[in-house]
Amino acid sequence: MTTALDISRGNPNAPRIDTASAGEDGARALLAGLTRAELARELAGIGVPERQLRMRANQLWRWIYGRGATDFADMTDIAKGLRGDLAAAFDIARPQIVAEQVSTDGTRKWLIRMPAVGGQAPADVETVYIPEHDRGTLCISSQVGCTLTCTFCHTGTQKLVRNLTAGEILAQIMIARDRLGDWPGGTRPTDAPVPDAERAISNVVLMGMGEPLYNFDNVKQAMLIASDGEGLSVSKRRITLSTSGVVPMIERAGSEIGVMLAISLHAVRDELRNELVPINRKYPLRDLLEACRTYPGVSNARRITFEYVMLKGVNDSLADAKELVRLLKGIPAKINLIPFNPWPGTAYACSDWETIEAFADVVNRAGYASPVRTPRGRDIMAACGQLKSASERIPAWKLRGETGHEHAKA
Ligand code: SAH
Ligand code: SF4
Repeated sequence: MTTALDISRGNPNAPRIDTASAGEDGARALLAGLTRAELARELAGIGVPERQLRMRANQLWRWIYGRGATDFADMTDIAKGLRGDLAAAFDIARPQIVAEQVSTDGTRKWLIRMPAVGGQAPADVETVYIPEHDRGTLCISSQVGCTLTCTFCHTGTQKLVRNLTAGEILAQIMIARDRLGDWPGGTRPTDAPVPDAERAISNVVLMGMGEPLYNFDNVKQAMLIASDGEGLSVSKRRITLSTSGVVPMIERAGSEIGVMLAISLHAVRDELRNELVPINRKYPLRDLLEACRTYPGVSNARRITFEYVMLKGVNDSLADAKELVRLLKGIPAKINLIPFNPWPGTAYACSDWETIEAFADVVNRAGYASPVRTPRGRDIMAACGQLKSASERIPAWKLRGETGHEHAKA
């Protein structure tokens, strides 16, 4: 059987690093992020015979996503001549890590510079790794900045710089795997606490910067590759997509991506939620909860996580706790109380510990286990809602690698 491939048009999904920022070989297509069919189309474009396309695309797939290859020279089951052709036409190098910070609690944060692609600006993205004794969670971003303006979120103070491509979303996982020795046969670093588990990265959460359901196609493609058994092989049950409540896209997230869902609830009355999570004005609580009730695949074994940030004197009363429990009745749910993580300039404060405990008690008594999420990586501004891209502050000449001196002369 042969795959029907449309090779007559160029592949719009194979981004190329813009030549201006990438030097002479800037026109090489980026392969990370492409589907099998897209890889085959790229291969056809460099003259790989039709009858070999499927096999070659599968080989590339396994090297890139299964093994984490960043150099065609490593692809030992591909003839040398073809490897040379591939290297001339395509790019599988990782985007650059600009900074790596390690918190006193072992949390790691990487600042990754995504080059300019397809006319879109370069962008700095933050990715956070949180090791626990039995698991390692990678928190990835789907956009740089956010179009939404949740009042307690640092990212919400930044305009949307741009959507991330599927390759850029995946690159965050791939870079973390590089740094944590988490590819098959890899060696774990000795200076990094990693869990006593088979995998350093056992879970992936789309809880970094951005609203994943406003970048649906790229998030979908990236998560399907991340969960592919011959790809990055992270089980869909260990991938969680967090949304502020883009109701019309929730059903598609379930049916087309099939990952676990988390909802940034944060308030139990429309009036307050309109203020904290302004998308609520468009999609109020009733509609949001209805979308949760009918989320494809939801069951007691696949519960929806409801995130609730504890804001002092705002949403943390016992009446709020009781209403929360009442609202979620009948929905297979987990509740995650998140102590508010402060950021420079915020007007909010985190609820007192006793208040959080009293709130958690009500939630506990209703049958929800261990609802309070321990803040991690606060000292390196890596905790929930503290991420904010530096890219809006980095002038373009710096990203081109020029020095300030040259720039001043120009
Ligand atoms: N945009 C998506 C996913 C990213 S935010 C969303 O809103 O769901 C990940 C979680 O962190 C969300 O529940 C968000 O509301 C929460 N959050 C944002 N700012 C926070 C802060 N300063 N302290 C604690 N949690 C915060
Ligand atoms: Fe955007 Fe989520 Fe922050 Fe709201 S909480 S501004 S949706 S990143």
